[in-house]
Amino acid sequence: MNLEKMDILKTLQAYESKAITPSELVETYLQEIEQSNSRLNAFLELRVEAAKKRAKELDSRLKEASTLPLFGIPIAIKDNFLVTGWKATAGSKILHNYLSPYTATSVQRLEDAGAIVIGKTNCDEFAMGSSNENSAFGNVRNPWDSTRVPGGSSGGSAAAVAASLALGALGTDTGGSIRQPASLCGVVGLKPSYGRVSRYGVVAYASSLDQVGPFGKTVWDTARILEVMAGHDRFDSTSSQASVPKYTESIGKQFTPRGVRVGVASAWLEGVEPGVQECFSKAIDMLRSQGAKVIDISLPHSRYAVSTYYLIAPSEASSNLARYDGVHYGYRSSKPQSGEALYFKSRGEGFGREVKLRIMLGTYALSAGYYDAFYLKANQMRRLIQKDFEKAFSECDLIAVPTSPSTAFKLGEKTDDPIKMYLSDIFTLPVNLAGLPGISIPCGLDKEQLPVGMQLIGKPFDEMTLFHVGHAFEMIRGPFSLPIPGGKK
Ligand code: GLN
Repeated sequence: MNLEKMDILKTLQAYESKAITPSELVETYLQEIEQSNSRLNAFLELRVEAAKKRAKELDSRLKEASTLPLFGIPIAIKDNFLVTGWKATAGSKILHNYLSPYTATSVQRLEDAGAIVIGKTNCDEFAMGSSNENSAFGNVRNPWDSTRVPGGSSGGSAAAVAASLALGALGTDTGGSIRQPASLCGVVGLKPSYGRVSRYGVVAYASSLDQVGPFGKTVWDTARILEVMAGHDRFDSTSSQASVPKYTESIGKQFTPRGVRVGVASAWLEGVEPGVQECFSKAIDMLRSQGAKVIDISLPHSRYAVSTYYLIAPSEASSNLARYDGVHYGYRSSKPQSGEALYFKSRGEGFGREVKLRIMLGTYALSAGYYDAFYLKANQMRRLIQKDFEKAFSECDLIAVPTSPSTAFKLGEKTDDPIKMYLSDIFTLPVNLAGLPGISIPCGLDKEQLPVGMQLIGKPFDEMTLFHVGHAFEMIRGPFSLPIPGGKK
C-alpha cells in the first residue's frame, strides 16, 4: 500500500469498492508508526489493541462503508483530548499519569462516524509553544528534515499526517497551533470559527481563544472531519447553535474562484522570509489567473496582536491552570512537609519552564493595580483587531496571508529567545483574537525544499468559502507530494 498517496477520500472509495479492509489498513499504519516513531517522536501513545479490535469490528461491516462518513479512517489525536481510559498528558509532567474519565465530544463524534483512533500525539506543554520543544516528553522532528521543528503546539499531529502515519489528525489552536505546524509540515490544517466545535473534554489553555480543528492531506479531508465533529454540544455552552453545512457535498462542484474577492494586507507582510514571500505571491497569482479579484486591504491593529495575545492567553491560562494543585489531578510531589508545600512543590516540579513563565505573566496582568493597564487594555485592543476584520470583510470575501513568516526552523534555533518564538504566530494570532476561521494550505517549497503554507481567513462561520476557494486552489496548484512514510531524511 502506497501510504503517501493515500488520503481520506481515496481510502473511503477503496473501502466502497472493497479493495481493502480496515484491518489491513490499520495494520499497515501501525507498522509504519512502529518504524518511524522513535525518530519523529510524533506519538506519545499508540492504541494498538483497541485500534485493531475496532478495525476488526468494521471489517464485518464493510457493506456499510458508504453510510459512515469516516468509515475505517485511522486518526491521530493530540494528547490534550480526553479519550476514556487513556492518558491525556497535554505534553506535561503534571498530567503524566492522568487517565481520562470520559471522551471529548469531538473525538466521540469521529468514532461514531467510523473513525479509528490509533494514538495520541505529542504537543507543547498545555499547547503553549510554536515548535513542540516545550513538551515534557521530548521534541517532535519535522518529517521533511529531522534537524528541524514541526511547528507547534500540535506538532505531533501535523508530523503524523505529513509522514503518512495517520490519514487525519485532531489538534487545538489557540493562536496558531494547528495552522502553523500544518504550514511547516506541508499539510492542510484548519482552525474553525470560535464555537464551531465543542471544547468539551479538551484540556483548556485560554478558553476564549481555544478551538478544536482537523489536519488532513487535502482540503476535502479537513472538510469531512469538520462536518462530522462540528455543531452544538450541550456539554459546551460556548459551542454554537449554528447549523453545520454538508461541506463535502458541494466542494469542487461548479465552483471557480472567478469573481471571488481575495483581500491581501500588503503592509502586514513585512519581515516575511523571501522564500515564503515568493511562494505566497505565486499562489495569489494563481488565484488571480483563475478570475479571483485581489484587493488591497488594511488591518492596522494586527501589529499589536502579539502583545495583545500574550496578555490575554497567559491571563486565561493562569486561571485555567490553577486546578493543577497536586491534589485533584496528576503529579504530586513526594513527601511534602506541609499542605502548602504540597501545592508549591507539585506545581514547581510538575510544570515546565514556559508554562511557569506564562502563569506568572498572566497572574501579574490580572492582579489588582495592573488589571486595567494590561488585561483590560488588551481586551480593548482585541476589539479593535476584530473591527479591522469586520471592515475588511465589507470589501472582500476572504483574506489571504502566509501562514507563518518562515519555513520550519532548526531545533533549538529560537528556544533562547521567547519573543522570536512568539513572532512565529504573527499571522495566526489575530484570527483567534477575532474568532474567525482560518485554513493553512501548502502552496509551494522554498529553496531548501521546505513547505510553505498559505492561510485563508474567512468571515465568522463561513468555513464553506475557505473550503471552496482552498479546494479550487489545490486544483490549480496540482498535487503536493509529501515525504515518504516516516519522513525524508
Ligand atoms: N504559539 C502560541 C502560544 O504559544 C499559540 C499556541 C496555540 O495555538 N495553542 O501560545
